[in-house]
Amino acid sequence: MARAAPALTRPQTLRANIGLAPLLAPPEPHGRLWVLQALRAQHPAGSGFSLWLSFGGRGLCYCRVAQTAFLLGPVQESGGCGGAPEQSLRGGGAGRAPEAFLLSLSLSKAQLMQAAAARFLHLAGPGSRLSYVEINISKARMAALFSTLPFADKSSLMMMMMTISILNVAVSVNNDHSSKNRETADVVSGNGSKPFPWDKMRLPKHVIPVHYDLLLHPNLTTLTFTGFARIEITVNQQTSSVILHSKHLQITRAAIQRRMGNSHTEEEVMVLEYPPFEQIALLAAFPLHVGQNYTVSIEYSANLSESFHGFYKSTYRTQEGEVRVLASTQFEPTAARMAFPCFDEPSFKARFSIKIRREPKHLALSNMPIVKSVSVANWLVEDHFDVSVKMSTYLVAFIVSDFKSVSKMTTSGVKISVYTVPDKINQADYALDAAVKLLDFYENYFSIPYPLPKQDLAAIPDFQSGAMENWGLTTYRESSLLYDPEKSSASAKLWITMIIAHELAHQWFGNLVTMEWWNDLWLNEGFAKFMEYVSVSITHPDLKVEDYFLGKCFDAMEVDALNSSHPVSTPVEDPAQIQEMFDDVSYEKGACILNMLRDYLNADVFKAGLVQYLRKYSYQNTKNEDLWNSLAHTCPAGDTQESQLQGDGFCTRNQQTSSSAHWTRREILDVTTMMNTWTLQKGFPLVTVTVKGKTVHLHQEHYMKGSDSSPSTGYLWHVPLTYITSKSDTVQRFLLTTKTDVLILPEEVEWIKFNLGMNGYYIVHYEDDGWDALISLLKENHTAISSNDRASLINNVFQLVSIGKLSISKALDLSLYLKHESQIMPVFQGMNELIPMYKLMEKRDMDDVENQLKGYIVNLFKDLIDKQSWNDEGSVSERMLRSSLLLFACARKYQPCVDKAEEYFMKWKESNGTLRLPNDVKTAVYAVGAQTIEGWDFLFSKYRLPWFNTERNQIEVALSISRNKDKLQWMMDQSLLGDVVKTQDLPYIIVFVAKNPSGYHLAWKFLKENWNKLVQKFELGSASIAHMVIGVTNQYSTREQLAEVKEFFNSLDEKSSQLRCVQQAVEIIEENIRWMDINFEKIKIWLKNNM
Ligand SMILES: [Zn+2]
Repeated sequence: MARAAPALTRPQTLRANIGLAPLLAPPEPHGRLWVLQALRAQHPAGSGFSLWLSFGGRGLCYCRVAQTAFLLGPVQESGGCGGAPEQSLRGGGAGRAPEAFLLSLSLSKAQLMQAAAARFLHLAGPGSRLSYVEINISKARMAALFSTLPFADKSSLMMMMMTISILNVAVSVNNDHSSKNRETADVVSGNGSKPFPWDKMRLPKHVIPVHYDLLLHPNLTTLTFTGFARIEITVNQQTSSVILHSKHLQITRAAIQRRMGNSHTEEEVMVLEYPPFEQIALLAAFPLHVGQNYTVSIEYSANLSESFHGFYKSTYRTQEGEVRVLASTQFEPTAARMAFPCFDEPSFKARFSIKIRREPKHLALSNMPIVKSVSVANWLVEDHFDVSVKMSTYLVAFIVSDFKSVSKMTTSGVKISVYTVPDKINQADYALDAAVKLLDFYENYFSIPYPLPKQDLAAIPDFQSGAMENWGLTTYRESSLLYDPEKSSASAKLWITMIIAHELAHQWFGNLVTMEWWNDLWLNEGFAKFMEYVSVSITHPDLKVEDYFLGKCFDAMEVDALNSSHPVSTPVEDPAQIQEMFDDVSYEKGACILNMLRDYLNADVFKAGLVQYLRKYSYQNTKNEDLWNSLAHTCPAGDTQESQLQGDGFCTRNQQTSSSAHWTRREILDVTTMMNTWTLQKGFPLVTVTVKGKTVHLHQEHYMKGSDSSPSTGYLWHVPLTYITSKSDTVQRFLLTTKTDVLILPEEVEWIKFNLGMNGYYIVHYEDDGWDALISLLKENHTAISSNDRASLINNVFQLVSIGKLSISKALDLSLYLKHESQIMPVFQGMNELIPMYKLMEKRDMDDVENQLKGYIVNLFKDLIDKQSWNDEGSVSERMLRSSLLLFACARKYQPCVDKAEEYFMKWKESNGTLRLPNDVKTAVYAVGAQTIEGWDFLFSKYRLPWFNTERNQIEVALSISRNKDKLQWMMDQSLLGDVVKTQDLPYIIVFVAKNPSGYHLAWKFLKENWNKLVQKFELGSASIAHMVIGVTNQYSTREQLAEVKEFFNSLDEKSSQLRCVQQAVEIIEENIRWMDINFEKIKIWLKNNM
């Protein structure tokens, strides 16, 4: 939709210069002017012509030379433009013929005004005005123009020229007969006053892309690329402009092709750009009719991106030390527009035919397999990829590199390949086998075949996130894909398997069925996260992934408990807001509420609903309710329970068959209503349980941290409660849909435990002596409940301290049982709750209590630490537990651990790094070794070697634990440079340094000083930026620190200061201050009594 044209404003100065006069001096400027200088554009036919336009309003000057517009700089005081072209801002298509423009204006003053307004003014936005137009046309051209006109038109042309002059539009004739070029009339727009025919961030739906033909030619030497995009479009509503996305692309030519009878005619079109919205507009000289076929062609060039998104440069060093360059893509969410002009919104699905030009020594990969390769020149090959399935732009991918690959077939004949830099191809086998198994699993689970003939998994040396699900060409950080059985840790194995499971799940959830808009990103990410656990628990049962699921829910609750949280489904518009959706709420909370729903519906019903959803919406886009409808229309197939599909589409069943009256009620499984309470409101419920005899009183409220945020009374959830009691370990179920409710137990019980296995996304408070009963149970017989139930009790008890429902001494009382704990999740959860307590104290002058607390925690886990063998034996969870415990013990200077680690480090150093250390204790050994300068230097010398590539992250942890401030600073500086330490690791390194008592000042200073660089590299709103902001500040707990953090972020531009992670950081510090005020003295007393 084009905006209505504003009225043409008459300028104050009138100039009565008539037609064929010599070049006029420019009129007096009216304040600041927009000046556009259209100079000699290359055009096959025509004569010399140039056009100057100046618009009222504030802004920048543009100069157009040979189809490229240059930013000249701000409009000067005089109102004019000066200076040399300094920055190429945009490209534009060769415009329409200027004489046609003249003639279209020539009939009457009214028509002139209308046409001028239509052609130019509406592009400049409301409030701007056409104040000066100078048309410079060669005498020959003007004579030719005149000679072709009938007399009536001649006189109207004269009239027009007078009118133009009166309107301060000067027409002059130059004497440049030699010019063979016809200049183009064109308008560049781009200031803040919306000088563009479209004023919304979202694209209009008038024009729908059907097919993209892309030709890309990256040059890995000059680090630039050229592109040619032909986009076939359908028109839904008559329009004369095509609005699409483009960012940092130099457009050199644009045209629209239409069918005229049996032939095609192609006309060049004007291109306008509106950088704030990353949009361009192609202005057709003819209307685009509904139902007709058109093809938009755009030629362009650009630089390979220096960041991690768009079509970007990546480098790596070979074993021999040679630096090699490759080019890869990362488009999600809004960076496809940096590689080709496109309709860059997920609901504009289309097919893609991609061609890539490359040097013969390289290979090109894309979503589809290559159908043919053509030699364009001796030094240039053009690969033609098969036409893709219908998909969103953010899933397009291509890579030009010198990668090597290994391949295998799945049982259904899909070719799976893993690509890496040549030196690491021996680390690709684990991923290859995992991918084959997982793709087989998903095809089977979803009962929908994977639609492409191949799936490539490529490890990219520079990669911001963990991985990306591009259809048919998933891309990964090297540490997310490459596994060395000799050198990788157990947690690396788990991580790699989960990531592959995640990206392959996306091939259905996300790629086949896509959220309509980014507000429902969780439909992609929550599902993929959830499916990681569903698939890996079956394909890799030895990893026991189901045990770790609840950790995701704890992570989600951490941010979801803050006032700055947001509903799973949240309106978003601009790229930074879209980036912010890639957070724990979309991923972790999304996964947790799906898991809760599956537990409620049962696994079979849930799966049947998902399959129905995927089938129904294949190659389409969906909203929240489409999912709920699919799930609700699937009947539960309970073994002894009756199920039937009612007329209203809802299933009913007997929820329980217990004797209690409550359970015999037939409840409608209204999935939509229930799930809306989890996706449309932020936060989660705290369910308070009070047992009086056989009666259990239930009460739900919004759990929210922070003193000044009184719990909102409007919040209500449909909570699918589960519980067991001291009398029955059969899981009982109850759907709490009201603020309060009552359960009647068959008999009195000693204890009751709600939220079995933490399958529900809520926390529970046990009133009266409820907690005491559970604490005694843990102390006396902790294995009476599952390890995940124990972990959830540890989590919940500390959560309740935060909101003042329990005292810290009660939580610490509970923690005492950990002395007898040996399972990974309760131990991890215990550490997760206790360690941050002394971390707060480390950043303040509280040594006494800090050391006592450290001593308490070490003592709590001492028996378990002593039991650890220093090798790689055992299950994955045993190995991960060992790795974490030993790192903790050594970092806490537990002497037996330090002695052993020192001994290992010495031997390893003496062997010059050739001694094979057990993989799971390496981090502890390195961390101890790096405590001396020599040890640190030696470790770093190894870090640089390709041989230690798989251990880079472990070494980074160890190097960042150093107490030497210079070393810490140096690490951060190096990772920003990105030569020795990869910039992709910078967010982690900064946060490691921030956790270090010697480094937290440095990390904060570094973050502040390099904010602009970091945002440029990692993008505003990205998870990497959020990780740094929160990771650096979340252990602050003083008012001074709070003020400092606030001051810094307030000093930034609005977009930065409004970031959600900034609000979270502030809330977390406020919460820490409150927490310390209330609990510090109590901890001191408790420790005195219990040590
Ligand atoms: Zn994902």
